Amino acid sequence: MKISDILHRQKQFASLEIVPPQWSISRAELLDSIRPLMEFNPPYINVTNHRDEYVFEARPDGSYVRKLQRRRVSQTAVCASIMEEFKVDTVPHIICAGVSREQVFYELSDFRYLGVENVMALRGDCLVGEKRFTPEPGGYAYASELVSDIRASDSNSSLCIGVGAYPEKHFEAPNLETDIARLKQKADAGADFIITQMFFDNEAFYRFERLARKAGISIPIIPGIKPISNYRQLSLLPESFAIDIPLELTRELEAHKSDRQACYEIGREWAEMQTRDLLAHGVPAVHFYTMGKSENIIGVIRKCF
Ligand code: FAD
Repeated sequence: MKISDILHRQKQFASLEIVPPQWSISRAELLDSIRPLMEFNPPYINVTNHRDEYVFEARPDGSYVRKLQRRRVSQTAVCASIMEEFKVDTVPHIICAGVSREQVFYELSDFRYLGVENVMALRGDCLVGEKRFTPEPGGYAYASELVSDIRASDSNSSLCIGVGAYPEKHFEAPNLETDIARLKQKADAGADFIITQMFFDNEAFYRFERLARKAGISIPIIPGIKPISNYRQLSLLPESFAIDIPLELTRELEAHKSDRQACYEIGREWAEMQTRDLLAHGVPAVHFYTMGKSENIIGVIRKCF
């Protein structure tokens, strides 16, 4: 079912996202890691997508050869396994990074073949060491172009399209207002719903939401939540996702940094407090970033929904 229809029919549900596993994980292990989440009857599961990486291998003559290195099982295989095993819709993330328009067209054809009805249209990030995003020859520079193209190729509107947004602004944008004006371009290009980047201060989300509505964005906005699960994430998450961790949460984690279990509990309780507050605020759903770990999220969903 399309997420736009689910959002009309179902009140305040938990939306879930998983990352395709490394090759060392078997299909059975992947499915076993997702199985506990089925307790909540998720209407769909988002499956992330990761651009191909390349390594340069030295040849005996001193020259180098570029070799493709894929660290994870393909998103298509993961979506097919989940749909077959759990009869749950999947929402593959389609990224512009590292692919041409033709490749995107064939990816979408694969997903249509599987019966997928929803996709997330995202730009993806730069390669490691690259300063600014460079589109593939014949590819897309911005997610809005991808949304327009999916809409143009989808004459019977069979796909429901989600896009990403950043309550604390995307790290490349000069300011939040400009970033929101660009988000509006994605909505105008035909996006049906928005899922936000993770954030740890709900006030940042409420401010973003107000500005988005003021800018004329009327499609549903689903906030993204990730419980912090260890002390290291206090620096890793801001570094990887260009987000802030509030001072109060920072202080609590700092005070318990040598106690793994305490940090885990602090992260879960903070996410629980955020989720309750968001639900009371009236958000249509809360999107949980599992990033391979679901126990803490299961705890939050059990207590809040
Ligand atoms: P865009 O909307 O294209 O925006 C990128 C930047 O360009 C922003 O700063 C924006 O302000 C600016 N911009 C947009 N349009 C214009 C314009 N016309 N002129 C000038 N500037 C412009 N990454 C992955 O690799 N795989 C995933 O599976 C994945 N899943 C994600 C899921 C969610 C919910 C979110 C929020 C992010 C996800 N990401 C994923 C990360 C995302 O790919 C990166 O944050 C990326 O840097 C930006 O993607 P975007 O789709 O928001 O890009």
